[in-house]
Amino acid sequence: STFDLVQLASELIDFHDASHTTHQLMFEAEGPIMIDADTEKIKQLLNNLLSNAIKYSPDGGDIMIQIQNRDNFAEITIRDQGIGIPQESMSKLFDKFYRVDNSETRKIGGTGLGLSICKEIVKHHNGTIEVESTVGIGSTFTIRFPIAVISTILTYEE
Ligand code: ATP
Ligand code: MG
Repeated sequence: STFDLVQLASELIDFHDASHTTHQLMFEAEGPIMIDADTEKIKQLLNNLLSNAIKYSPDGGDIMIQIQNRDNFAEITIRDQGIGIPQESMSKLFDKFYRVDNSETRKIGGTGLGLSICKEIVKHHNGTIEVESTVGIGSTFTIRFPIAVISTILTYEE
């Protein structure tokens, strides 16, 4: 269905914000930004990325979520100030069951499925997902989806 991504994201973020007092979630968006997608899948995508941003920032910190229309793509960025991702892990990050293995991530735990599911959801909606990260500084995930084309049907009566 076609829906406003900004509206959906703001509801999800309110929900996460209410249950996490150790992190501050900030949301910046200029809506509406309409996309044609499966709402449940988009919720799952955002939830996976938000829960990663929270759990891989064990010392708290700000999590910034932005949505904007960039060249007719809905662009979502999720930025954290967490542990970051080593350069050598980048190419495997979206693989099923892959987890960065070090003393910090071992304490945190997980199955390594979240990002592989994100990759599938993005692919299914003709989108892209990218990550930029610096160890000890934080990570930024960027997702882009084509904006829905609103077709206007004109009916002429004779
Ligand atoms: P699951 O999501 O299935 O519970 P998981 O979080 O370990 O487990 P993914 O979400 O697929 O699995 O993430 C894969 C790995 O990427 C993580 O184990 C972690 O090492 C790294 N990672 C993901 N997001 C972040 C982030 N925001 N900051 C730092 N590392 C991250
Ligand atoms: Mg995860």
